[in-house]
Amino acid sequence: MAVNNTSKVLLVLSALVALAAVFWPSGGPGGAPGSPEVAGSSNAAAEERCPLGFTGPNPHTFGTSKQQAGKGPGAPVPLAAMAPAARTSSAGGGGPGGRSARGGDDDPLGRLHLFFNATIWTGVEPPPGQEGAAAAAAAAAAGNGGGGGGVKRGRVPLASAMLVQRGGVVAVGSLEEVRAAAEAAAAAAAAAAAAPGTDEAAVQAEVEVVGHDMGGRLLLPGFVDAHVHLVPGGLGLARTGVADLRGAASRQEVAARVAAAAAALGPEEWVLGGQWDEGDWGGQLPDRSWLDEAAGGRPAYLPRHDLHMALANTAALQRAGLLQPPAAAAGAAAVAGAAGAAGAAGAADAESGVSAGAAAAAGEDGGGGGGGGGAPEAAAVPPHVEGGVVDVDPATGLPTGILRERAMGLVAAAVPEPPPAARAAAVAAAGRLALSRGVTAVGDMGRYPTADPDSPWRDLVDVYMPLARAGRLPLRLYTHVPLSTWRKLVPYQLVYGRSHPGGRLHWGGLKDFADGSLGSRTALMWAPYLLPHSDSDSDSSSSARAGVNNSTTSNSGGSNGGDEGCGVEGEGGGGRSTGSAPRCGQRATGREELRQLAAAAVKAGLQVSVHAIGDRAVDEVVGAFAAALAAGVEAGVDAAEEAERAEQRQQQAAAGAAGGEGEAAAESEEAALRRRVRQLGERLRLRVEHVQHVSGAANVSAALAAAGATPVPNPLHLLTDAPMLRPRLGAERAARAFPLASLAAAGLRPALASDWPVVDLQPVTGVYAAVHRAAPPPPVAAAANCLLPRHAPPLPQPVGTATTTTTATTTAAAAAGSSSHGADLAAPATAGEVCDAFLASVAAAGLGEAEQAEAASGCAPEALLLGGLRGPEGGRGGGDEAAVGDGGAGAGAGAGAGGSGGEGDDERLSVEAALLGHTAWGARAIGLEGFTGVLAPGARADFVEVAVGGRGGAAAWLGSDQPAAAAAARLRRCLPVVLRTWVDGRLVYDVEERAQEAAGAEAKG
Ligand SMILES: [Zn+2]
Repeated sequence: MAVNNTSKVLLVLSALVALAAVFWPSGGPGGAPGSPEVAGSSNAAAEERCPLGFTGPNPHTFGTSKQQAGKGPGAPVPLAAMAPAARTSSAGGGGPGGRSARGGDDDPLGRLHLFFNATIWTGVEPPPGQEGAAAAAAAAAAGNGGGGGGVKRGRVPLASAMLVQRGGVVAVGSLEEVRAAAEAAAAAAAAAAAAPGTDEAAVQAEVEVVGHDMGGRLLLPGFVDAHVHLVPGGLGLARTGVADLRGAASRQEVAARVAAAAAALGPEEWVLGGQWDEGDWGGQLPDRSWLDEAAGGRPAYLPRHDLHMALANTAALQRAGLLQPPAAAAGAAAVAGAAGAAGAAGAADAESGVSAGAAAAAGEDGGGGGGGGGAPEAAAVPPHVEGGVVDVDPATGLPTGILRERAMGLVAAAVPEPPPAARAAAVAAAGRLALSRGVTAVGDMGRYPTADPDSPWRDLVDVYMPLARAGRLPLRLYTHVPLSTWRKLVPYQLVYGRSHPGGRLHWGGLKDFADGSLGSRTALMWAPYLLPHSDSDSDSSSSARAGVNNSTTSNSGGSNGGDEGCGVEGEGGGGRSTGSAPRCGQRATGREELRQLAAAAVKAGLQVSVHAIGDRAVDEVVGAFAAALAAGVEAGVDAAEEAERAEQRQQQAAAGAAGGEGEAAAESEEAALRRRVRQLGERLRLRVEHVQHVSGAANVSAALAAAGATPVPNPLHLLTDAPMLRPRLGAERAARAFPLASLAAAGLRPALASDWPVVDLQPVTGVYAAVHRAAPPPPVAAAANCLLPRHAPPLPQPVGTATTTTTATTTAAAAAGSSSHGADLAAPATAGEVCDAFLASVAAAGLGEAEQAEAASGCAPEALLLGGLRGPEGGRGGGDEAAVGDGGAGAGAGAGAGGSGGEGDDERLSVEAALLGHTAWGARAIGLEGFTGVLAPGARADFVEVAVGGRGGAAAWLGSDQPAAAAAARLRRCLPVVLRTWVDGRLVYDVEERAQEAAGAEAKG
């Protein structure tokens, strides 16, 4: 399907009547479908909202004047290899100055680019009345009575045209408004030309306008993914010899994939990869013997898909010093003996029958093994890992190969670090993937929790900075370093600021972990996990079951109120090596340690982002934030803002606003403290990552709101965790999980994130999951491929649809599945093949022509979903795929379609809120509010063109006159498809180019 939507129009506007340097016609009310609100979002307002120390709507030095453009050391450099933009600006022909337009150039001389014939969803949130304390408090109160109806936020305005210059948005609105803005800009340039000493050629360029006909497509701000792991994700894409264990359904399959990966490696190289899920083969946890033979003597280290557990083989444990090799075992008797002595302290639990953990076990085995002399291997130095567990086999006392949480670091540290060039290649690969999904900005959370604390620094200094200097960062990147290294960040910011002047690289986030994950039973909960009881539950392997049961026994006398018998794991910073998962999860960082670090960072004016999945972990993080903020306010961290606010209040009072003065005077000391705490929290963007479970007693949404925190939930985790919610937590806690709507209702702005590569990088399906709390039905996902050119790589399979059972959709789903998991770089199938398979299934279902036509356009009609073709999640989700409630069931931001009785139905986000979560709110979480994530004057021109298919087009879907439920229903039928992606006003991804590449490769092969 060829869409030639870009006309080659070159409008030459001569220097017209220069009325004034009026940038925008009115800034006031304008004609529909323009967006006067957008036009009115003045720089001053944006400045206020851009609080991470940036000084304007554009935190950088380039972009506004021609003196700066294209000259500074950090000026953007064209991504020649990735910017097939010829079509959009190959207008050719001589301009007024005789210059011919150069295709794909970044226009350093500042021509005006006018994008028209589009539906532009601007991502600009209309002001919800007052942003003040009262409004937020009222919202919090209203939103937390249950029901999750959501706060009624205004609708994001649509526009139809946009003016871009030097990669920045100059104007957004109706075509008339934007043309007027272009004329004004040209006139201003012409007037400037009159000034003596001006470079005439340069000025001449500024009066050129390049037109881009967008063919009626929907334009969205580039997606922001606020939490990814860029280097590990990119390494997984770029490297050969990686064992990708996703979907491996048996021990044999695991071994086969490991063997295949190992075959591509040298004899000493590590087999890496992972992403396994024991649920895929029935729930038994694997052990090192699964990998030993397949790896052919090479060390293998394979994290579970959630990255909170890992499987290491014998060679890897030996490299890490957790096992002695057989040859060394006898000779190491002395070492083992020493280990025994050291381990004695840890042996206390052994009496109670608990599998005593690596520490004690090492001691016992060290004695036995050394004495016997014939032991094939022996445990080595007893590891005491804070916030981690080395699983041991109760029978032998040796590590099984399963490492939980920070114990993963014992082996991860032994894996050689890829050199900077390899990591830079990984960033490039990650960038290609991200741009193809419409993601133009990411929050990078560093390498895995287990890597050493300096690795994110090495990525920043040795990889990201050089890429930024060379102009080779493919997307915008905001990076975190470990919270424990905050002292290093202070001088770094003094020297380098917070951003590279090129505008692509930003830093300043501090990351830490409060707990683990639900999948690994290490998320810290107030109440215990349910005991494993079914084969489908992941931890039901015999050894883990024994451990948990024993743990229950040893704790049974200690029940006390709030803890409900939970042992307090990791109190004061110490984790335990119990040999199995703890009952209520565990802390990854000691509570007091976390509080102290957060307080120190806040006092230094730094952003803190803490991973917290369990309800207790979330409460503790919020508590730490609140305390840190209160101390920060006391220390005057917010003194400057506070003085400014006081001045504003005085001015208002002086201006004679009756009542204003009274209100200001009426604020009690206590209320002032609460307000300042919240405002400081908002300014510093204190983030809670994941926020997957919230406590019942304390209203965590209110606490989060009071701390001005920024939640960063993962809708796609909902899909992977859904099957284990009930078995592990019970119905009540399961229903409250992933509280997306509650967070939005509390006046917060949840920034959505994938946590890639924990799950795939798919904002479109992330939006879908946030709205429908299910994966897109396979027919819808398959139908979306019909929107792509035939030879384009197919859309990835949405997470959670791997096990389709419905006959008629199997073909299509299988075809779609072949390209899953970001492997689109080398996907065998094409979109056309997936589409054909899908249409065959539609034909088999006996649909009428109209339905087939709609399906072919990418929108499976409801009949298709309801006529016996529903995917499994339709049943599991309890009504998610039931009749679509277009009838306005549930208004407001929190309302989705009118499903009935599904788990967590109250927590659905509206389409608009979900889109904001992946655009404007995501940008806010990475400190780039107003700079990206919106299409408004002052923002960078980062945007995606998407096809939505079906009748009525984009406006019928997102138009402000459409009820929220209609948008949700529409999303259920039509998965948007990213066709092109622009960063800094340059085309950096085009699905048609990819299609041609694929066709070329096919012809060659
Ligand atoms: Zn993460």
